[in-house]
Amino acid sequence: MTILTSADTIAANFSNPAAPPPAAFGPSNPFYASSTLPFKVPPFDKIKDEDFQPAIEAGMAEQRAEIEAIADNPEAPTFDNTIVAMERSGQLLDRVMAAFNCVTGANTNPTLQNVQTAEAPRLAAHEDFIYLNTKLFARVTAIYEHRGSLTLDPESIRLVERYHDRFVHAGANLSEADKTELKKLNEEASSLSTAFINKLRAATKEGAYVTADKAALAGLSGDRVAAAEHAAQSRNQEGFVIPLQNTTQQPDLVSLSDRVTRQAIFEHSWNRTERGDANDTRDLIARLAQLRAQKAKLLGFPTFAAWKIEDQMAKTPQAALQFMDAIVPSATAKAEHEAHDNQAIIDAQHGGFQLQPWDWNYYAEQVRKARYDLDDAEVKPYFELDNVLENGVFYAATQLYGLTFKERHDLPVYHPDVRVFEVFDSNGKHLAIFYCDYFKRDNKNGGAWMSSFVEQSRLLGNLPVVYNVANLPKPAEGAPALVSFTDVTTMFHEFGHALHGMFSDAQYPMLAGTSTARDFVEFPSQLNEHWALYPAIFAHYAKHYKTGAPMPEELAERLRKAEGFNKGYAMTELLAAAELDMQWHMLPADTSLQTSDEFEKLALEKTHLQISYVPPRYRSTYFSHIWGSDGYSAGYYAYLWTQMLADDGYQWFLDQGGLTRTNGDRFRQMILSRGNTQDLAKIYESWRGAPPNTKAMLKYRGLEDSGPSK
Ligand SMILES: [Zn+2]
Repeated sequence: MTILTSADTIAANFSNPAAPPPAAFGPSNPFYASSTLPFKVPPFDKIKDEDFQPAIEAGMAEQRAEIEAIADNPEAPTFDNTIVAMERSGQLLDRVMAAFNCVTGANTNPTLQNVQTAEAPRLAAHEDFIYLNTKLFARVTAIYEHRGSLTLDPESIRLVERYHDRFVHAGANLSEADKTELKKLNEEASSLSTAFINKLRAATKEGAYVTADKAALAGLSGDRVAAAEHAAQSRNQEGFVIPLQNTTQQPDLVSLSDRVTRQAIFEHSWNRTERGDANDTRDLIARLAQLRAQKAKLLGFPTFAAWKIEDQMAKTPQAALQFMDAIVPSATAKAEHEAHDNQAIIDAQHGGFQLQPWDWNYYAEQVRKARYDLDDAEVKPYFELDNVLENGVFYAATQLYGLTFKERHDLPVYHPDVRVFEVFDSNGKHLAIFYCDYFKRDNKNGGAWMSSFVEQSRLLGNLPVVYNVANLPKPAEGAPALVSFTDVTTMFHEFGHALHGMFSDAQYPMLAGTSTARDFVEFPSQLNEHWALYPAIFAHYAKHYKTGAPMPEELAERLRKAEGFNKGYAMTELLAAAELDMQWHMLPADTSLQTSDEFEKLALEKTHLQISYVPPRYRSTYFSHIWGSDGYSAGYYAYLWTQMLADDGYQWFLDQGGLTRTNGDRFRQMILSRGNTQDLAKIYESWRGAPPNTKAMLKYRGLEDSGPSK
């Protein structure tokens, strides 16, 4: 049994929790039996939109029966008849949800959205049925209390502990009345999350900047103008369309020279969910924050954050806050120096205005050019997507772990842009299947992510089938996909997650692969980012798409130096978002509904992050990580926490001789293959030889001192 609640899965319609009319579910449904395709990959060539709902319903019914049989088993509870039996349950539901989560995140449509809306409250209730089941909890508790005297291996003991904690965390200890109350809160919260996702998707689409005037796009490269024209055509609109990305800052602001256009695009982004229309999310998030605080109180915690962080590596909100508070002064001091540099250019050009957030990237790019003479357009020809993937991302995995990759055209995909690779271990044996879906689409959620179609498990005999999704700009027809170095980094990042999934060597699915803690799971991915600039890797992929010539060393050197640039801004916008998340989730249960804009302003002031020209990376009202699901609520700090782990960990590699098979194999064996089979702080410490600290992080992020930026 794997966890149902991956990001964007749980959605709900509180007003309609009733079962849908019974739909036919039989052998003709492609989810009916385990996939007969190699490695049990989903049969996307046979899956139709209308197949999902009956399979989800049947999957819940099947697991419900399995769980009831376990709970009602007349035999005394044992590890096998209770814990292992639960791990074996719900395989149909896992199968359908893995495919459903993928297409609703990466390739959705109104039919799928309706299924999501209808099924979400039922999936939430299904999870409650399991984790609030009194008889089942009693069996788990009996095993938990005697685990010391059972002859179980360490991974099995860990599994017992995880199940027990999960029941307690979900409220299994509550009275029946409180359980009913909790179910109500969960259902309303999950319905609000679905509404949030749908509003945000629509708001992001509608927030696109549209112009008929090509002159407004002055400064954009020919490729970007063509892409804007193409975006307009695909929406049946005249002129040019610049779609919004999920973050506050928009990539084209780097090159747009017309300040009016920049301001317009920025404001479209900043206000996308605050326009007083149907997609305004201000009231929604205020209610959601209140519901979460009430839920935490019911479960015996002072705040939602305390409840949420209990099972994380940080363990308490205070530990996470202290970690962040300690970085704020270095980050903001650095950002202030960078702002000064930007203002100096504005003044030198007799701009006659004060730096605003929509100016930041445009002038920062000029500082970057002046200081490093580096132009994004100059480096992009060296980063052609396929080449980056095969000679960079894959190559690094070959050097470190001995992996090899072969593209497969025989396995069905859910969209023509998706590519599939078979991954072989160093001994030539099959290791995993890897899918990648890199290009932006309007029916894809923003950002980039990794997930699994099949999670590795020795118990179930499953080998990993994993995928990466991103939103890289799709080139105009016939043009090469030239990406920025930021996009290159995203590819390495997501592939770091993929490696965590592919190397998984766990007995039990619940403890496999990336099923770890939020403040650990971004560690392998952020560590993998470091290889993008590692000399032997970089030289192997950074080649001109036309001539194949390597990037001149002099340009590569400027690129590396420029990577340390603007880090004050980057760290500050992340800290601001992470603090907003934490402040929203530290509200006590009796707080009245907050006025979103006012709350946001005060939260940033309180944490010394209210800086006019460095807005948070996500504004509260379009912060999908924290409202779209429970996933990263009170957990956005984890991105920074795991930066600390990744930088500290990379330092270990450098200290041990860098990119070697010996280092890679040790990392694979002690970290990547372990999933959540042991305490994560202990896993880290035994691999690293010491607990993590921020020393390498401050060095790699250019925050060692608060002197003038170099
Ligand atoms: Zn990640």
